[in-house]
Amino acid sequence: RAKRELGQQVCFYEPAMDERVRLRQSLASELRAAIEHDQLQVHYQQQIDIATGRVRGYEALLRWQHPTRGSIPPSEFIPLAERDTTILLLGEWVLRKACQDAARWMHPCSVAVNLSPMQFIHDDLPSLVRRILDETGLAPARLELELTESSIFADRDKALAMLTRIKALGVSIALDDFGTGYSSLDILRSFPFDKIKTDRSFMPSIEENPQARAIISAVLALGRSLDIPVLAEGIETPGQLELLRDMGCAAVQGYFLGRPKPLTALVEAGQIALLHEGLPA
Ligand code: C2E
Ligand code: MG
Ligand code: MG
Ligand code: MG
Repeated sequence: RAKRELGQQVCFYEPAMDERVRLRQSLASELRAAIEHDQLQVHYQQQIDIATGRVRGYEALLRWQHPTRGSIPPSEFIPLAERDTTILLLGEWVLRKACQDAARWMHPCSVAVNLSPMQFIHDDLPSLVRRILDETGLAPARLELELTESSIFADRDKALAMLTRIKALGVSIALDDFGTGYSSLDILRSFPFDKIKTDRSFMPSIEENPQARAIISAVLALGRSLDIPVLAEGIETPGQLELLRDMGCAAVQGYFLGRPKPLTALVEAGQIALLHEGLPA
């Protein structure tokens, strides 16, 4: 208060900002506690093969149900976890959980898990993936890891070495959120991607905006010529689905096809059958 009376220059000492820093610090430590006490959940969202209409796999998406603040979206707590090594704990937790869950599904479809750029820098990721596959008994071919270009640009050589080792395990790699950011054509050529996912931001305007359509169509053409299947994210309407089908897109994901849901809900709705009886943990 006293400082604020001195004038506008010291406004960076606003109590509101201290408040934000404190909130962030307390959330960060609560997040670590939440990991330790299994208070995080994984929701699963269907990925559909356009040609057959069949579910090809599910993307694992982290959820944090905070005891007093309610549900905190990953767009808020992932960046927080990325400020220190919490993201490594979080990344390991979600990978293990998704592999454990998928190992119990009757239908052997794939499970996609998102990776943070920091997991490439600090962790021996291939060994971790290998250990978790061994632990959970999930067939490596059923695991797909999603990463964005930012994971690669931090240290290109290291990323390529890591991805090569991960692929040697039989795990596949998807490039997430393509079409925004750098959208480097060079990394498409030099990295062993099994799938390209177009960023969901193109979808809301794809029907009326020729620019959005042109970008998706260019990515589809690239995918075809490099022989990498493309999945379009963020499909919310039947019109968008129709358009993507006409454009020759291989697979789709979005609220129109299915929202991310807890495994229990997918089991109750009869979408996933479990190998063993009983409710998922
Ligand atoms: P992402 O990997 O691109 O995941 C897709 C996001 O789009 C998810 O948001 C999903 O709920 C949302 N989405 C799916 N269909 C639609 C749709 O039709 N319309 C709209 N508007 N949105 C749709 P979510 O779950 O909030 O996750 C946001 C981001 O947080 C993810 O983007 C990913 O970058 C990150 N994230 C989530 N879980 C994890 C995780 O376990 N590890 C890491 N490192 N990042 C994660
Ligand atoms: Mg993703
Ligand atoms: Mg994405
Ligand atoms: Mg994203």
